[in-house]
This record gives sequence, C-alpha cells and structure tokens, in this order.
Amino acid sequence: GSAAAARPALRACRLPVQAAGPLRFSLPSVQLRGQQTLGSASTPLARHAVRHAWALSEERLVEVEWEDGGHSQYPFTWLRDNCQCPKCFLASAEARTLLLSDVDINIGIDAVEVTDDSKVSIVWPDKHTSVFDAEWLKKRCFSAAARQALQEDLFLNERYYWDSKLRVPTADFEEVLRDDKAALDWLLALRRVGIVYLKGAPTERGQVARLAERIGYLRLTFYGHTWQVQDKHMANNVAYTSEMLNVHTDYPALHFAPGVQFLHCIMQAAEGGESQVVDGFHMAEQLQREDPEAFRMLTSLRVDYTDKGTDYCDFNLQSKTFTINVDAEGRVQKISFNNATRDSILDLPLHQVQPFYRALKAYLDIMDRPQNVFTYRMEPGDFVTFDNWRLLHGRKSYVSRPDMLRHLEGAYLDWDEVMSRLRILRSAVHGNA
Ligand SMILES: [Zn+2]
Repeated sequence: GSAAAARPALRACRLPVQAAGPLRFSLPSVQLRGQQTLGSASTPLARHAVRHAWALSEERLVEVEWEDGGHSQYPFTWLRDNCQCPKCFLASAEARTLLLSDVDINIGIDAVEVTDDSKVSIVWPDKHTSVFDAEWLKKRCFSAAARQALQEDLFLNERYYWDSKLRVPTADFEEVLRDDKAALDWLLALRRVGIVYLKGAPTERGQVARLAERIGYLRLTFYGHTWQVQDKHMANNVAYTSEMLNVHTDYPALHFAPGVQFLHCIMQAAEGGESQVVDGFHMAEQLQREDPEAFRMLTSLRVDYTDKGTDYCDFNLQSKTFTINVDAEGRVQKISFNNATRDSILDLPLHQVQPFYRALKAYLDIMDRPQNVFTYRMEPGDFVTFDNWRLLHGRKSYVSRPDMLRHLEGAYLDWDEVMSRLRILRSAVHGNA
C-alpha cells in the first residue's frame, strides 16, 4: 500500500480540486478553505438591520429595506402563518402551534412598523400582533439568490467530483471521536468528496458502532446493526466470499437505501482484497454528456431489485428504483446499482428491454474506465467512510488463508442523521446558528 504520508491531511480536502484535468467543482476555492465553509460565509458577523418596512397592499407583501440598501419582500399570508408569538409558536419546541385552519390565507394588514430594536412589527386586522427579528427575516428572504444560498447552507449539495487521481481526505479516528473540529472536517469532506479515510482505529470489533455513536445512531438492516464482511460458508450475500466484487451501491433492494457506509478493516488478506471506488455522480454527468439517451433511460426506468434470505431475521425484499435518481431540478441525487441483487423480474415493456441494457452498459462502461476508478488497500486499523448514495464500491478477489482471515466490520447510517450532526458541529465550531 501507499505510505500514509502521501495522503493529504483532512484539512487539505480541497487539494483534489487543485489537481489539473478532469476534476470538476463549481464552488469558488475560498469556500473550500478550513473555516470558510458556505455555512460561515453566508452568515457574516455584521448583523442585519432594518431601515424601513412597509406594506404593498396590492401585492399583499411586506417590503423591508435593509441598512445596506437591499430589499426583501414577504407575503402577508406567510408572515401570519409564521408569527413567532407564544400563542402561535411554542418556543421550547421550536414548532408552530398555530393551525392552518385558523389562518386566513387572504389576510390583510392593519399596520407595519420598525421597532426601536430593528424588528418588524405587524398588526393584523383582528389586532393580533407579530414581531419579526431582522436576522430571522433576512435568513428567510424569498429572492432566488438568498434561497439558493440558504439551501446550500442547509444541505451542502455542491460536490467535488473526482476520478482515479483522487487524494482521499484522511483524518485520525480517535481525534474525530474526541475533537469537534476534526469531526466537522470529516463530515464536510464526506459530504463534498464522498469518501474519507480514518486511520488508527483499534483492530477489534465495535469501532463502527463507536463512530456511529459520534453521529447519533446507526441504521439497522436485515444484515444486523453492524455486519462482518468475511469469507463465509453458504454465504447469504456475494460480499461474504473471497470473490471479486464489481462496483455497486449497497442495498438497492431497500427503497430507502442507506446513505452512508462505514467499513473498518480488522484483518486484511495476505494477497488481494484491494478496494475500488467510483464517483457515481461524476460518471452520471459524463454519461449525460456522452450519451444523453442512455442518461434519460436510466433516470426514467425503474429497475427491480430483490434480496431474500436470513440474517438478523428472515427477509424477502422487493424494490423498484431508478439507476440514476434526479431531483426536481434535474440534479443527480442517488445512484442505485447492484448487479448481484438486480432482479430477473424486469418490469418493462418488451421494446424497452434491449434499449435498457444498452443504457446500463453505457453507464457501466464509463465506470470501468481505468481513469475513473480509484483503487486503495485497507490495512488493519483503517476505516473508510463513504456516501453510499453516490459512490459505487467494489473489491478485488483475495486469497483466503486460515491464518489471515480478511475481516471488515461494516455499518450503515442515513444522511439525515449525518447532516444533523454536521449542522450541530458547525454551530459548535463556528458559533453560527
Ligand atoms: Zn401570533
């Protein structure tokens, strides 16, 4: 394996994008640097202050003019619905108690004024009064630019694409468990790059569970809370052999496949067993460019998956999923492909079967190109954490020897829980809510 020194420190996770050539990224480099994540960039220290506020009765909007000269507009109905007073909002739960059935969605306004402490106060026709904090309003500005910035801040959907020249962000396992800044850098890189190594974990079972506890809780599946990747007699999964595993995503037989995967190397084989990963989002983008028709098919035809057997308990799964899932904006959101569990049941009309195979082959061919595959070898104590909605992973075959039994322990988490921890760590480290 390559020397640890050749790998960049986690703080240098921006390094991959500096490599020349095909690596793609769309964020200005300033946002990649340590503290200057979008999260802190979009919440500068200077507080926003309201200069004026008035009602536009015709449009039924309240317009706010900020001290910096900018303007924002807020619909009457939205303001009434989001009144922050104790009658309408339970502060201890940070949750709305006002019922929509009690909101007149054609409501007018009696008066708008800016209070001495720069809040916007609104008196409604029934004399109910709502007071809105300037910072709260600014964050919720409806302009396209403001919404885009806030959504990026919340979900970190901008990714750094990579290929075989990836330099995997790396951190120390114990430091991530102990230190908030290290944990935040780990999760930011996991989101942006899709894969992060952690080094120096004890070579015994239970470490994937420890790391999951750092986030919240792990995702139980039919393979158990955690699972042991080993060469097993009468294997109930193709992973539990010493055979080569083609790149795949885990568990497309679940409609909601696990978002994040941890693998901890407890024992490596004497020979073989190297890991391979591909950036499924990057490859989907290449497919869209090279073969738009194949991309269209893989984003619109559902493929059947199945998984049957016994492990945590007996199971009989069936699912239908797009190979390339895109969101409402056409942005790739999730890759689902596992050749082992892809069902022989194929719910397509006859004339679409051959075009479907052609499209799937086109995508797999791109992922097979050596310049797109990143190969690494895990050694005992190494951890790999990766985005199972984005990466396809596989391994080379290995020699199974009784005295060198390859053993990885794995666990799943979901992105909701991971992003939740990321936001909390970001607040703790940078101090912005
Ligand atoms: Zn109220």
